Amino acid sequence: MTGRGHRWTGVGAAFLGAAAAHLAHLPELIGAAAAAASTTVPDWIEFPVYRNGQRKGALITHRTVTHWPPLWLALAIFGIHEGGFTGALALGVAIGSFTHILADAPNPMGIPWYWPTKRLKIGKKGLWRSGEHEPFLALVFATFGFVVWSLAGGRILTM
Ligand SMILES: [Zn+2]
Repeated sequence: MTGRGHRWTGVGAAFLGAAAAHLAHLPELIGAAAAAASTTVPDWIEFPVYRNGQRKGALITHRTVTHWPPLWLALAIFGIHEGGFTGALALGVAIGSFTHILADAPNPMGIPWYWPTKRLKIGKKGLWRSGEHEPFLALVFATFGFVVWSLAGGRILTM
């Protein structure tokens, strides 16, 4: 998924962040804001190097450890244990990053599901290429997030 598509999924991520924070008894608005702001985190923590506006490589190989689900799962668990503002922040960042990884997973490049250096694609060549179906995917994800948030008992403007 492109950077723009990832930012659109921030709406769904916000709902999921609020739902997770609610279930973990953490401040919901912090979880929602952190999740919404973190849907591009796995790409920029690779420290990409740009030359003349073009990506020329990065410090960390693209879609390796930064796109590895166990890393973000660990951060989510830390957040739940930590609690409070920091916990909600960590949980939100984990959920935003998970959202990013899920959105990258159907591309031909795939993501490293099990081992951080081994990317796996879905099927022979992935489901679709980066940049395809982005508004639709963002809408589906926003709807999914809203449903999860409602089921989790989320209410607007509760802290
Ligand atoms: Zn990515």
